[in-house]
Amino acid sequence: MPWRDTGRPQRGTNRLTGRTRLFVRGAVQGVGFRPFVFRLATELGLAGWVNNSAQGVTIEIEGPADRREAFLLRLERERPPHSLVQSLEAVHLDGVGYAGFTIRASDPGGEVQALVLPDIATCEDCRREVLDPANRRYRYPFTNCTACGPRFSLIESLPYDRARTSMRGFRMCAACQAEYDDPRDRRFHAQPNACPVCGPQLALWDSAGAVLAQGDEALQGAVAALRTGSIVAVKGLGGFHLLVRAADDAAVQRLRTRKHREEKPLALMAPSFAAVAAWCCGCPLRAGAAGAERQSCYCARRARGPTWRRRWRRGIRRWG
Ligand SMILES: [Zn+2]
Ligand SMILES: [Zn+2]
Repeated sequence: MPWRDTGRPQRGTNRLTGRTRLFVRGAVQGVGFRPFVFRLATELGLAGWVNNSAQGVTIEIEGPADRREAFLLRLERERPPHSLVQSLEAVHLDGVGYAGFTIRASDPGGEVQALVLPDIATCEDCRREVLDPANRRYRYPFTNCTACGPRFSLIESLPYDRARTSMRGFRMCAACQAEYDDPRDRRFHAQPNACPVCGPQLALWDSAGAVLAQGDEALQGAVAALRTGSIVAVKGLGGFHLLVRAADDAAVQRLRTRKHREEKPLALMAPSFAAVAAWCCGCPLRAGAAGAERQSCYCARRARGPTWRRRWRRGIRRWG
């Protein structure tokens, strides 16, 4: 259901009141663009609506001309950080007397032109929740919000709505739905919104496909398996990651043999930039830091370190 702002004062009799229709093209879906437009329009006392289409985002704002101008200026200045506006077209029209501002159902018609975002690494706010024992998402690995989480990997078609993503099979619980419907919440219209009650769950399988553990126990089980030298296949958003403990020579060798990857470098995973900085010479980190929110892969010259790091891939001078 679209959220309707009923608290807005009645439309005034200002002679300059009119309506502007905007077509925004670019990476404007999956970045919290509609909630942002909703908040901005509501804050400025403008009526109208916003929706996603296969081409981008369409907005109609109705109200005094000065507020519509302020909306346009702030739309460009304050738009969500991951959004990318390729073009913005404005058409001025007569007012029709909208009663409030709504997020309308998406319009799936027409040729697909909107850009799909890549998956975005967990933001600081979500990370804090996952690490907070008092939070309902404590240790829940699929935590996300409008600023972070999967996009490319779960979108099946555009426009971007939960019904067109692989999350459509997970019905939101009352608490998640309340966040999704609340314009003040950072999960307002967050399509992959999920929690331990209603969202996807972890499961640990053995090589025959038998379920060994679920939820947090599955995570602990996977860690224990890595520590004892097993190869763990983690089903991620976009495929499988094959993991072994980098300090375990025998496990690394077994993975190389099985994957026929005798020479090709393997990627190292690190929990933080501080850890990467300790392993590598610092210069390329500056470039890497810019892509931190997408947890990009990048290469850095390796530093001297414990034996396993020197032995791990002889002849390769860079970590990736
Ligand atoms: Zn987040
Ligand atoms: Zn939930």
